Amino acid sequence: MSQEKYDLIVIGSGPAGYSAATRAIDFKKSVCIIEANHLGGAGIMNGALTSKTMWELSKDFNIASSVNRGYRASGLFADYKQVQKTIIQAAKQKQLQMLSQIETFSESTDTHGSMCLKYGWANFVDSHTIEIDKNGTKERITGDNIIIATGARPRKMPDIEIDQERIIDSDGIMNLKEFPERMIIIGSGIIGCEYATIFSNYNQTEVHLLDRQHKVIPYEDDDVSDFVSKGLEKNGVIIHHTANLRTIRKRSDCLEVVLDYQDGHSKVIEVDVAVVAVGRIPNLDNLGLENVNIKTTERGYLDINEACAIDNFKSCNIFAAGDVSGHAQLYSVGELQGRFIVEALYGNLEFPLDYSNMSTLMFFKPAVAAVGLNEKACKSQNIPYKVATYSNSLINRAIAMRASDGFVKIIVSDDGENRILGMRAAGPQASTLITSIAYQISQKGTLKDIRKNVHPHPSISEGVQECLRVFEGKSIYKPQAFPDFIKLESWKPDSKVEKSLKVKK
Ligand SMILES: Cc1cc2nc3c(=O)[nH]c(=O)nc-3n(C[C@H](O)[C@H](O)[C@H](O)COP(=O)(O)OP(=O)(O)OC[C@H]3O[C@@H](n4cnc5c(N)ncnc54)[C@H](O)[C@@H]3O)c2cc1C
Repeated sequence: MSQEKYDLIVIGSGPAGYSAATRAIDFKKSVCIIEANHLGGAGIMNGALTSKTMWELSKDFNIASSVNRGYRASGLFADYKQVQKTIIQAAKQKQLQMLSQIETFSESTDTHGSMCLKYGWANFVDSHTIEIDKNGTKERITGDNIIIATGARPRKMPDIEIDQERIIDSDGIMNLKEFPERMIIIGSGIIGCEYATIFSNYNQTEVHLLDRQHKVIPYEDDDVSDFVSKGLEKNGVIIHHTANLRTIRKRSDCLEVVLDYQDGHSKVIEVDVAVVAVGRIPNLDNLGLENVNIKTTERGYLDINEACAIDNFKSCNIFAAGDVSGHAQLYSVGELQGRFIVEALYGNLEFPLDYSNMSTLMFFKPAVAAVGLNEKACKSQNIPYKVATYSNSLINRAIAMRASDGFVKIIVSDDGENRILGMRAAGPQASTLITSIAYQISQKGTLKDIRKNVHPHPSISEGVQECLRVFEGKSIYKPQAFPDFIKLESWKPDSKVEKSLKVKK
């Protein structure tokens, strides 16, 4: 039987795989995308888009329920089934757009290549041949180049059986029949804190959040994690810091959760649903990697070089992008890598792959955005820095929105150059604020490069402008008048202590 042959085979239709495929048609290549489950991967279903839709809906509900805006809504009630329906509509909308594009490019022309989508489980037969198993029906296709973009799945916990009904992970959120009365979320990373925000926004669930350490999102600076903790607690979330999950006992009418705290005491709480959110692991099982002699790293990821090629593969026609690559598990990283591989293969690369300006958005209340280095990273890399923080409480637009909880925090190098190293923003439009600083980081910009930019009024981005002015003692509102709202500090490797900088008059 003759095998279909493609220029490029992409395994996985998530952000990494789909972006690679769509870029390859620009180079007039024939591409086959293989997908075992949901089109769009975790970028759409049980992941980025569905969780963000739920966050947006919950935010609207939370604002509608608030009492500080001159109105008081009565009888507000959110029906989980209807919320679910809206989330599925959003996911379907995106999947249909993806499908429409695949159909549009089903045949190649003089100006573009072609794309096709095959459903089924892909595994390597050899370095150019993939077998696709669709419910037992097998088909083999060949490709000059192959990209592994198979993403990641929720990590399991030893001895905790995920039934996706009462004990669920992020793949099971859409299985819930109603808002649970009581829920515990195990894991206080971004996904755990996002779901804690979403369910507490609806105010129909008593939400417990289990934080093994002293701080939620522990990789961020303490001021950022404290801000997030306070926001969650203000929203009604009960955070169990320094608590380990010992076991979950399934009772007929509830789950009995046993928590062991670091100080030695234990606590048993009753909930209706437990959400396990303890990280994600790469999808590399049953992919036939042994047939092409590809080994994984100690952490279980694929070892890729700077061209995203599998390092230990001699002929180098196999590449990896997205969550399997061991880089930050972000939609934008997957897209960046997927497109980069194709540009490296078929085009002229305009820039090396640069991860330094990848932003992370955290959908809490309020949202938090992060790009570049934080103080912890500077300290661990012995980089002298100055850090300015400016509260949204002083920003007119935030005041007008009645949403002044939040801040802008910018870090610059303390070496005479004032290079922009990183930023954290919390509050409304944090995701938009971060992009200008991300650009400066990628351009190796300095305070001098950025300060000429005038921000419009009234905008949340005036916080960025004011924060930058703080470094030079030129802000309109002064730290001396608002010590709780404006801060300027510095750190040097030898000093080992932070000190407040003297603010110029
Ligand atoms: C709840 C949640 C919220 C998130 N929110 C955000 C966010 O706000 N911002 C952000 O940047 N990132 C977010 N992420 C992360 C983001 O979704 C992932 O980083 C991104 O989807 C990774 O893309 P990918 O293409 O590598 O893999 P995926 O999106 O996981 O896609 C991989 C695809 O490969 C398929 N596949 C696997 N094995 C095979 C096989 N053998 N054969 C055929 N197909 C196969 C899978 O079915 C899947 O569809 C979130 C993730 C989750 C779970």
